Amino acid sequence: MESKERIMEEFRRKGFRATPQRIVIAQIVLKSKDHPTAEQIYQAVKKKYPTLSPATVYQTLHLLTEIGLLQELGFSDRVSRYDPNASPHINIICRNCGKIQDYQAESIKGLWSQIIMELGFKPIGQRLDIYRHCDQCQANMHNNQVL
Ligand SMILES: [Zn+2]
Ligand SMILES: [Zn+2]
Repeated sequence: MESKERIMEEFRRKGFRATPQRIVIAQIVLKSKDHPTAEQIYQAVKKKYPTLSPATVYQTLHLLTEIGLLQELGFSDRVSRYDPNASPHINIICRNCGKIQDYQAESIKGLWSQIIMELGFKPIGQRLDIYRHCDQCQANMHNNQVL
């Protein structure tokens, strides 16, 4: 997914210019696994390319979302996170610290194709979230209770 050629092709197919800056930012964010915030993406980009402005990074994130390479996960109580995983999967989200992990399994693929068959149309996007308290937060809560 993060190959340069594929990114360039996607940009052009949707009528956007595949500038070197956009390619670089896309490559960094599409490689990410931890559902980063825009700020975290900017910091990662800045480390490699100190001259790129935050505006360029944020605009590119919007573009990538618009052309469907990236999904913006908005939350009512915290800042948006970006998810490059376009295939149907479940985001396991910690309500306490906001950490997000992907859960991908054959069971989801099977269920997903069944749902699409039942709906009778092809969805243009999806978002499946499960909330929990992650192991670390559970451990912290437990410790606080004990103290
Ligand atoms: Zn947590
Ligand atoms: Zn995800």
